[in-house]
Amino acid sequence: MAKHFYFEQKGLCIYCQQNLKIAFDNNFETNISHIEHIKPKARNKYPEDTFNQKNLTLSCNGFDCRNEIDKSEFCGHNKQAKYNADLFVNPIELQDIEKYFEYTFTGDINPADNLNKQEREKAEEMIKILDLKNPRLVNMRLENFNNIINMELSNIELLLDENVDLLPSFFSMIKQLLK
Ligand SMILES: [Zn+2]
Repeated sequence: MAKHFYFEQKGLCIYCQQNLKIAFDNNFETNISHIEHIKPKARNKYPEDTFNQKNLTLSCNGFDCRNEIDKSEFCGHNKQAKYNADLFVNPIELQDIEKYFEYTFTGDINPADNLNKQEREKAEEMIKILDLKNPRLVNMRLENFNNIINMELSNIELLLDENVDLLPSFFSMIKQLLK
C-alpha cells in the first residue's frame, strides 16, 4: 500500500515534501516512511476513518531520509494524535494548499502574507503540529534550494515540470521561489 501512495504523491512526503525515493529504491520504506492517518487512529476517536483511503497518506518518519538513523522530529511523527478538524489543512482534500505557505530564501516557511485570519490560524497550526520550522528541515530546504540555484537554467526548467511521475524534493518551495 505504501507504494501506491508513494506514486500518488509523486514520491514526496505529504507534509514536508522531501523525496522518499531513496527509501523505495533500497526497500527502506518502513524505516523511512509510514502510512499516516490524517485523522488519528489513536484513542479511537475516528474509528470509521481508520481504513478509509481518503484518510490515509504517506509521511516521512520525521528526519532526513538520506540519513535513516536520525531520530524522528517533524511531520507525521510530530503530529501524532494532534488533530483539530477546524484547523487542519488537509493536503489530500485541498487543491490550493500551497497558498497557505510562503517559503523564504533561507529555507524557512511561514504563513502566506495574503491569508485571512482563519486561514492564517490554520497555517500556523500546521507549521506547529508538523514542526515545519524544525531547524533540520529548514536546513534541508536551504541546502536543496542552494543546489538548485547553482544548476544550469535548462535543468531548473526541467525540475519545475509538474507532468512527471516523481517530483523533486520541496517542489512547492522550488516552484514558489523560482517561478
Ligand atoms: Zn515529511
